[in-house]
Amino acid sequence: MNSELESPRLPNPFDHPNEECGVVAVYAPGGEASRIAFFGLFALQHRGQESAGIAASNGETINVHAEMGLVTQIFREPDFYPLTGEKAIGHTRYSTMGSSLLCNAQPLLVDGYQGRLALANNGNIINSPQLRDQLQEEWNCSFNSTTDTEVVAYMLANAPGSGWAERLFYCMRQLEGAYSLVALTKDTVMAARDPLGIRPLCLGKLDGGWIIASESCALDHLGATYLREVEPGEAIVIDKTGFHSETWTGRTGRRALCVFELIYFARPDSILDGQLVHSVRQELGAQLAREHPVDADLVIGIPDSSTAAAVGYARESGIPYSEGLVKNRYVGRTFIEPEQRMRDLGVRQKFNPLTEVIRGQRLVVVDDSIVRGTTTPHVVGLLRKAGAKEIHMRVCAPPIMHPCFMGVDMANRQELIAANQSVDEIREFIGADTLGYLGVDGLMKVVGGTQGGFCDACFTGNYPVPVQLELTKLVLEDSRPADATPDAN
Ligand code: SF4
Repeated sequence: MNSELESPRLPNPFDHPNEECGVVAVYAPGGEASRIAFFGLFALQHRGQESAGIAASNGETINVHAEMGLVTQIFREPDFYPLTGEKAIGHTRYSTMGSSLLCNAQPLLVDGYQGRLALANNGNIINSPQLRDQLQEEWNCSFNSTTDTEVVAYMLANAPGSGWAERLFYCMRQLEGAYSLVALTKDTVMAARDPLGIRPLCLGKLDGGWIIASESCALDHLGATYLREVEPGEAIVIDKTGFHSETWTGRTGRRALCVFELIYFARPDSILDGQLVHSVRQELGAQLAREHPVDADLVIGIPDSSTAAAVGYARESGIPYSEGLVKNRYVGRTFIEPEQRMRDLGVRQKFNPLTEVIRGQRLVVVDDSIVRGTTTPHVVGLLRKAGAKEIHMRVCAPPIMHPCFMGVDMANRQELIAANQSVDEIREFIGADTLGYLGVDGLMKVVGGTQGGFCDACFTGNYPVPVQLELTKLVLEDSRPADATPDAN
């Protein structure tokens, strides 16, 4: 494997926050855990498309296969030959800290005072630069990647304590930020979720074994039974003595699930905070119709992520719903650099308007979010060209005015259009006749949930943990010793 292989950063023609990562952990007595992990990752592909990997233990050794690309591109039958054993963890990645490099593909394998372990994470550890310095000083750890996950891996591999639960709590007391992590030793599968529960993680049962995954859709595809969410602050250890779980409520005692998981990131068939994501999105659309009604002929959504909200808007407003844009479902991250003329076609690569449906209509167009505002003018232009008479843009998230430091690549404050322009200026910029965003109060009313407690910092600036506003995803590269060379795990 070429350790310097980097995924080309193609211009993102789709103006959405970028997903974070997906994790899966499998304890399958008598089974091949790596193959179960593969199908779990396949279901979580929407959470990250830059790299993926699986680590498996056969009780004696831990083997890892991790590469750049989509899950189905990375794994071929022979890749599973070394991945034997009944314990495995897997990861699919979008880089939120550290570049899109093979050395940062997870799970990462490290050796420490407590032995060898593999670890993968979804989230961002805000104090990782300080913790990395501490680990270098105390344990002489030598870092091969530029991701915060390696900091957590070394910390756990060297943590004091008489068992893995104690060691996980040792780490959790020091880690600041968001983490839903899975880890593997030769004998043990582990998982932990930060005390605020910022990123999702859930637990299921499969044929007498256990599955832990970022979203319940992965359990459904595996035929596993969904049991519950992994509690914020919960540490899970599974070994031959059974399933063990303990919970630390953290310093604040509050919860802060990322509300964007419900708006956009999570798959609609997943259950988050006790609610089916699809139903929440329909209700967000209905709330948007109550807050921003308009006289129009047809409601369409930007597929696929806004379809449920568009149906909700239509139902509440009494305006008929129709598909208006057809999405090429196979447009994803490509490793082929497009020719300049094709790149200029931008959204044309992804959407094609149903001209006969749109022509002469006063349209309500529902989208889930506007981040930089780079795509929306093109979508509006496409619809106008197809003959739309009026375009009323409705967005089922409030204006995004603050960057995310908890594991979502959202753009910085200078790039966020709503941080720099008024709603009317944005309306003019995107070329819509009217523009309406869902309010924060309306959003919170809808997602209220069964347990409550959401992070809404990208709309309000109220971060659930203290953040350094200058923190960037390359922070561990910027502070990296000059002689450190990335290496594949
Ligand atoms: S800042 Fe926004 S995207 Fe980031 S965790 Fe909070 S709600 Fe989610």
